Amino acid sequence: MARQTYELGKNRLKRGRTNPRGYITIILIGFIMLVGGLFFNLFYQVHHLSILTQNKGELTFEDIPPIESWHNKEAKFVYLTFDDGPSKNADKILDVLDQYDVKGTFFVLGSAIEGYSKSNEVLKRMADTGHYIGMHSMSHNYSYLYDKEKGGENFVGELLEEQQLIKEVTGGFMSQLCRAPYGSGGTFNAGHIEALKEAKIKCWDWDVDSLDWESGATVTGIMKNIEYCMNLWNYPKNTIVLFHEKDITVEVLPKVIEYYMELGYEFLPYNPDYHIVKNLVGSDEI
Ligand SMILES: [Zn+2]
Repeated sequence: MARQTYELGKNRLKRGRTNPRGYITIILIGFIMLVGGLFFNLFYQVHHLSILTQNKGELTFEDIPPIESWHNKEAKFVYLTFDDGPSKNADKILDVLDQYDVKGTFFVLGSAIEGYSKSNEVLKRMADTGHYIGMHSMSHNYSYLYDKEKGGENFVGELLEEQQLIKEVTGGFMSQLCRAPYGSGGTFNAGHIEALKEAKIKCWDWDVDSLDWESGATVTGIMKNIEYCMNLWNYPKNTIVLFHEKDITVEVLPKVIEYYMELGYEFLPYNPDYHIVKNLVGSDEI
């Protein structure tokens, strides 16, 4: 910088446009700025390093992590949820979750509990190993559950029936969470919210739809859907991923878990003591 200023000054002298005093002043200012800048930089780096070493012991400049990675320090949580079971895939999903020591939330159907020969066994396994069992209604019947007049009553009536069924099958698990079939957005009315509040049942939708239920769903396609949603919502602190008990779900699950691990997310099952609001109907009461 000083050299450039010098050259410039020389040219100007030749042309006789700048007087020598002005030229010396420019060099001096340039020199002071350069030295000052170097000192400031050095001070900043040493100061920065001393803050880091206070907590971390020995560190060199190379050890200072890039600023972007510091954002990952804040804890983030992902809730993996599986709808429409229990089915023959429930045990396979549980096996994958076990391999990674990850807990999930299963929104089971009353009709599926009654229709699957091993449902007692698998629901007990879920409850005994720290997964959460949520309710997904008895029937999954759209017109009955979302009837304009009686929808709220019908919906919660089915949930209460299912709540008892799960309790019997598991030997005491009292579910306090539901997922509305087809989601709560565009289906719930005020009657649903009131009836849920009265029954002390919360309701979760999702913010990431894996689209594993689509015919022709692939591992690559599901991963793209998940990455798209995560990017769209800007990597939220709490994220709920929607799956179903499909064959492709079993296949993609290890990749999904590894994806969230790399992002620094922690895996949690639903916890009624720390309920977070996540519904598409936009109510903070459920
Ligand atoms: Zn469903």
